[in-house]
Amino acid sequence: MNKTKGAGRVYLVGGGPGRVELLTIAAARALLVADVVLYDRLAPRDELAELAPNALLIDVGKTPGRHPVEQGEINRMLVRHALGGATVVRLKGGDPYVFGRGGEEVLACREAGVQVSVIPGVSSAVSVPAAAGIPLTQRGMSHLFTVVSGHAPLTDAEHEHLAGLGGTIVVLMGVGTLPTLCSGLLRFGMSADTPVAIVERGYDDAQRTTTSVLRDITADAAKAGVTSPAVIVIGEVVTLAHDANLAIA
Ligand code: SAH
Repeated sequence: MNKTKGAGRVYLVGGGPGRVELLTIAAARALLVADVVLYDRLAPRDELAELAPNALLIDVGKTPGRHPVEQGEINRMLVRHALGGATVVRLKGGDPYVFGRGGEEVLACREAGVQVSVIPGVSSAVSVPAAAGIPLTQRGMSHLFTVVSGHAPLTDAEHEHLAGLGGTIVVLMGVGTLPTLCSGLLRFGMSADTPVAIVERGYDDAQRTTTSVLRDITADAAKAGVTSPAVIVIGEVVTLAHDANLAIA
């Protein structure tokens, strides 16, 4: 690992929504020079050995039957490898600063005096709806979008806020809290006929879109057996959904 003398560095890299074609060129370059790669469950993992031919690959994400490495330990690993002289890539799904705890990792590096730079990625918040043919903004239909974490249930103040915002609502990590979210939005006056889409496993062969309306989506999602990872889109733009497979020339 310590092939370079002196201090190493950390690149905090956004891996996009899972398709290797949606990595940035900067991400691919960082992987190419990496000595160590710490990667997550939703990062593009299949082609990693090819993209990072000289790197020790460390899985710190959740796999079935195994717990993820705890955040503090990830921070310590980043710092330890970099101080040992390695070029370290911390590869995360989507964009590192969108619900990725990237800010904490950058802070840990800076506090330890480790040079760190961030390479943004294609966030699932925008790209997974696109994979289902849903534009988040559309002239005359939606001129704003709000991205929310559904990791924990929202408060009623937040439901009220969100219900009155208009535009498009995008929810990540929201499958588990969908019933709470829908009842909350309905309680604060959002129309029961508001279109809703849930896009599971964006850019994967098993990508699937379930569309419904706010009143029925909880039951329809349960019936369809919707699971994480999925992006939920709420708003008029959902009516534009269509099969939009990624075509790359
Ligand atoms: N930093 C990431 C988000 C991390 S939170 C980003 O910018 O995309 C993890 C959540 O992202 C998942 O629970 C899911 O809601 C969403 N997600 C990421 N990749 C996805 C994919 N390929 N298909 C569907 N949802 C995805």
